[in-house]
Amino acid sequence: MIVTEKAPAKINLSLDTPMRYLDGLPKWDMIMASIDLADYLTIDIHERPQTIKVYSDSGFLPNDQRNLAYQAAHVLKTRFHQTAGVTIRIKKNIPVAAGLGGGSSDAAAVLRGLNKGWRLGLSLAELAKLSLAIDSDVPYCVYSQTAHVTGHGELVAPLPPVPHDWVVVAKPKVSVSTPTILRQINYETLEHLDNEGLLREMQNGNWDRALAKMGNVLEPLTESQYPEIRRLKQKMLKLGADCAQMSGTGPTVFAICRSESRAKRIYNGLRGFCSEVYQVVLL
Ligand code: ATP
Repeated sequence: MIVTEKAPAKINLSLDTPMRYLDGLPKWDMIMASIDLADYLTIDIHERPQTIKVYSDSGFLPNDQRNLAYQAAHVLKTRFHQTAGVTIRIKKNIPVAAGLGGGSSDAAAVLRGLNKGWRLGLSLAELAKLSLAIDSDVPYCVYSQTAHVTGHGELVAPLPPVPHDWVVVAKPKVSVSTPTILRQINYETLEHLDNEGLLREMQNGNWDRALAKMGNVLEPLTESQYPEIRRLKQKMLKLGADCAQMSGTGPTVFAICRSESRAKRIYNGLRGFCSEVYQVVLL
């Protein structure tokens, strides 16, 4: 049996962390959304061989148990004692190690796909609970709809849909290690966001006011090591972005635009300035 799944990239409309847990990981306070830049997965479930295999068209990805898609298949196969083998083929469109949650979204797509293929009947909440061990962004990606995400990433509270605004995504030519950035956070100096106010504006449908409250408290830390992030952001704002900020721990920067013409201006203005630029919409 073959199941196909779409794995959209995520962006952090807001990213804050009030403290570090005793295990060293951040307690998150994030508002996340998905965009129509996506990987596509084909999941083939077969009697023989009974192993898990992953193939992708990206030269940057491991194809063994280090691949998050492999780990997702392994979690469900062992937890539900499935003997069948699984072959996963990933058409990779989301830039790797970019702050766009590509690996997490692939893992979430495998969980959704195998839940259907094996007729496990698990709810999204149950899949999200099983998925935290893979990566902190996987529970959100299981839903892939605008949500308030807290805890280690496992508490996902879906929010009302957001307008399908235009988003320009630009990835500078650097790779950022998420664990390294997370270890470097100095909680004494973080400038916290008004996420409660942002949630109120979103819940009341005041999108323009919500855009003004978005932010990412980790921006100064990543920017201090990769100044091209600040340059990209400033260029986006100068070209008319309604909001421009870094996604996750970076290095990708995104601009949200209320009009398509402004998004196009930013997209055209950044090509040549940055090697990877995409014009997409909020899902
Ligand atoms: P996040 O924002 O969730 O931290 P990211 O966008 O920064 O994620 P990913 O693209 O998910 O980063 O890649 C992070 C690491 O995960 C890379 O080192 C990559 O090799 C590894 N990885 C494993 N499986 C995958 C996958 N299917 N797709 C992308 N990266 C993967």
